[in-house]
Amino acid sequence: MRRKLAAGNWKMNGLSAQLAEIDALRTAHPDPSVDLVIAPPATLISAMVVSAADHPLQVAGQDCHASESGPHTGDISAPMLKDAGASHVILGHSERRTDHGEDDEDVRAKARAALAADLKVIICIGESLEEREAANTLEIIAGQLAGSLPDILTAENTVIAYEPIWAIGTGKIPTLDQIGEVHDYIRSKLEARYGAGVGRGIRILYGGSVKPSNADDIFAVSNVDGALVGGASLKAADFSGIITAL
Ligand code: 13P
Repeated sequence: MRRKLAAGNWKMNGLSAQLAEIDALRTAHPDPSVDLVIAPPATLISAMVVSAADHPLQVAGQDCHASESGPHTGDISAPMLKDAGASHVILGHSERRTDHGEDDEDVRAKARAALAADLKVIICIGESLEEREAANTLEIIAGQLAGSLPDILTAENTVIAYEPIWAIGTGKIPTLDQIGEVHDYIRSKLEARYGAGVGRGIRILYGGSVKPSNADDIFAVSNVDGALVGGASLKAADFSGIITAL
């Protein structure tokens, strides 16, 4: 049985005062059967680890470099995230792919580095609106899975997040049938590549405009094991509404 996972991605949002939301999450008594992860900006990782010390919340990075160290000004390595107290790292988010030109090969190299540093990876994939409208979604998903995932991984250290690019921050979500089709397809691809045991154990999150008002419906879809939440993870009241729906 896969444990449910609610992951928040704060993106480039949050000064220290934003950590008050972690205190608010604590008092919201989230369901202990749900795993909770938040990826704050790198500047807040250490402080969030301290804030969450007596709470099941785990802290993630939003990206890492594929090398352990070296002349890469402005970048952060996987061992650095681990050292700061992070347990997870989000990789291949569409905003990284668009803003920084990351491709599947980059994401795979970063995933290898993260797993070697004993971080868990949340690997993001998803189609653009043009690809959806051209009926290419499954082909795009297959290519991203094949290219972005390392050959060696486990159900415990890897999570896939399906985030249609056109649903991110737009208030639009695919139909529940469309979400189910993609999640079932990802599951079948994972089972084919990694075997039934690992393939069935990897959690698949949906991301893109998840809110307390649509979370119940989305979480009822087959092979949806949780959510990767952007905007609605910034307020404890909204995020705990989503956690409750899991
Ligand atoms: P929103 O929930 O703001 O649409 O963002 C989704 C996302 O990109 C999470 O990584």
